[in-house]
Amino acid sequence: MSSSAAVFTELQLHNDPDNVYVQVISAILDAGEHLKLPRRLELILAQPKNELMMHFPVLMDDGSFKVFKGYRVQHNNVLGPYKGGIRFHPNVHLDDIKALSALMTMKSALVQLPFGGAKGGVQVDPRDLSEQELMRLTRRFTSALGSNIGPDYDIPAPDMGSNAQVMAWVADTYMNLHSPNERLNGSGVVTGKPLAFGGSQGRDKATGQGLVYVLEEMLPSMGFAFEKMRFSLIGFGNVGSWTARLLCERGATLSAVLDHTGAVLNAKGIDAAALTQHVAQTGGVAGYGDADAVSEDDFYELEVDAFIPAALEQMVDVRRAAQLNCKLVVEGANAPLTPEAERMLIAQGVHILPAVLCNAGGVTVSYFEWKQNRQAETWDLKSVDSQLKTLMVAAARRVVEFSRTHNVDMRTAAYGAGLEHIPNVYSIRGIFP
Ligand code: GLU
Repeated sequence: MSSSAAVFTELQLHNDPDNVYVQVISAILDAGEHLKLPRRLELILAQPKNELMMHFPVLMDDGSFKVFKGYRVQHNNVLGPYKGGIRFHPNVHLDDIKALSALMTMKSALVQLPFGGAKGGVQVDPRDLSEQELMRLTRRFTSALGSNIGPDYDIPAPDMGSNAQVMAWVADTYMNLHSPNERLNGSGVVTGKPLAFGGSQGRDKATGQGLVYVLEEMLPSMGFAFEKMRFSLIGFGNVGSWTARLLCERGATLSAVLDHTGAVLNAKGIDAAALTQHVAQTGGVAGYGDADAVSEDDFYELEVDAFIPAALEQMVDVRRAAQLNCKLVVEGANAPLTPEAERMLIAQGVHILPAVLCNAGGVTVSYFEWKQNRQAETWDLKSVDSQLKTLMVAAARRVVEFSRTHNVDMRTAAYGAGLEHIPNVYSIRGIFP
């Protein structure tokens, strides 16, 4: 029996291979085998420390009430306060949030930030809400979270469907509900805030920027150059649109984009800045004038150098992987490939750069924001970018080194390099009592 299967049996977790939580934890435990993690640590990491689920009513504009379901899952805090985004999406479920919280533990550990991992979410399509409804939902969810979040305990941030404005409402609600003492540094309860309310320069583009720094470090040894790179992208939200704009600024060609509204293709190159404006105005890539509308099959089959999924988990299954015609998969989204799809692509010689490295730029600049809030400092963009680059390049080098030393693929190496210093802290701290 593999180590992860034995752990699932001991924890009485149903070992369902299609479940994203099972997939993520199995991959982390497989990486742990190269470090010979003690069994007690495997058991600790295989399930979150806390799983909160709450149902709360929100007053809608027409006078009716709707009850929403919200989650906050705190996976691990041995390296520092819990940290991770809050997602507003209709398909948010407990197991996704659990998987994403474990990935946050791995991201923070890999970049060596003084944070653990958490994730939250509300099952809602924010596009269906007015701004006032979204504000009331956010405030009510924050009050339901109560003291389960805090600047020294658990620090949310934006994720899919949430943004800087949502973070401002979370911080304001938290500050109103807590004592004057806690209120003093209360805005540090979240990161990804608007600049005018304690946010950081460079936080908005941070995930895309971090991904570009990782590529800058890793592409040359893989035989790629930005100027010759054609890429396709799934998702044109914060991560996708920033990644596209920053890669195009470096000379890469954006060939095609797929999002919830459709797929667009222009072999000569799509202007990422113009597409960003179009999406801001219309809500999606469909109808963009300077590209052809194509089918999903055409999108997946397009020959490109790099394919960048930057939307939801598990979007690329075996069927989609079989259609891909790329040399490199760069994960902007968390867990976008099913394990079977990943195995298939690796067998075909496709390089896969995992999300836990590629999209760690967001939480890294969140750390800078948290640090600025605590030290009452304001850093300029140059300073944020250069420190981001330093940490991303160091993380990328740790992954490459782990992959060489243990002769493993990049995902296993990214988890392995992240896990490396966790056992040490557990053995120093011991387990209470
Ligand atoms: N939601 C982002 C992520 O998944 C950022 C998390 C954070 O900044 O805490 O990495």
